Amino acid sequence: MDYTAILILACIFIPLERLLPLHHDQPILRRDWANDLIYLLFNGFLVRAGSILVLGGVMASWTHWVPAEATAWTRGLPLWAQVIGVIVVADIGYYTAHRLSHGIPFLWKFHSVHHSIEEMDWLASHRVHPFDQIWTNALSLLPVYFLGFSAPAVAIFSLIYHVQALLLHSNLRITFGPLKWLIASPEYHHWHHADQREAYNRNFAAQLSLIDVVAGTMFLPRHRPERYGVSDPVPRSYPLQLLYPFAALLKARRKQTNTKGATHEQNA
Ligand SMILES: [Zn+2]
Repeated sequence: MDYTAILILACIFIPLERLLPLHHDQPILRRDWANDLIYLLFNGFLVRAGSILVLGGVMASWTHWVPAEATAWTRGLPLWAQVIGVIVVADIGYYTAHRLSHGIPFLWKFHSVHHSIEEMDWLASHRVHPFDQIWTNALSLLPVYFLGFSAPAVAIFSLIYHVQALLLHSNLRITFGPLKWLIASPEYHHWHHADQREAYNRNFAAQLSLIDVVAGTMFLPRHRPERYGVSDPVPRSYPLQLLYPFAALLKARRKQTNTKGATHEQNA
């Protein structure tokens, strides 16, 4: 990320979170802030490199399978309609990837790094394992590419997506009124991060809460969440968080092998 952009974001979000905090007792330099700053400064390089490799590879090998006529209609739409189209298509892809990340143990190991956030703010939104981000990018952006939306429409979508991601995680007391049933708000996404049983596997969308309303996964009570985080033993430092999913998968595999071995011995 551009360092000037980081400075601008800090100058916007830090005073805003002081003026309108959701959790008053949360300091700016809360626990793990330095670790999340490392994500903000360095993680983007890994995500970009991986996304170019994976998405570029799929696009290059599949592009000749998409007939030009199929994308001509999309390209003929005015820019504003294309932007709305990209948001809808990308967020359905995001919802699918995100829901699978909560439901499939392999994917959850990577996604649990993001859910290890215990104090929500704009900086915490950057704590995402590169594999998790690349997987989500693939499911949300590949359909956009194959449907033929124009580059300016994707660029505008990308800007809205990033600003909204910061807003969703921020420690801000902002409500969207009746629009909360259509657009993802901070209160909506804070409940997704709540470490409370009633909120598990809810509010999966990144931009359109309407997708959760339609899918029956919306959860938005009037009170605020009590606590955030996960019970998984996610370590607290960036390098260890990068390694954590692989170590957890290896551990689960060993456990499975040992259980199978013990069952065989019992049956013998
Ligand atoms: Zn999640």
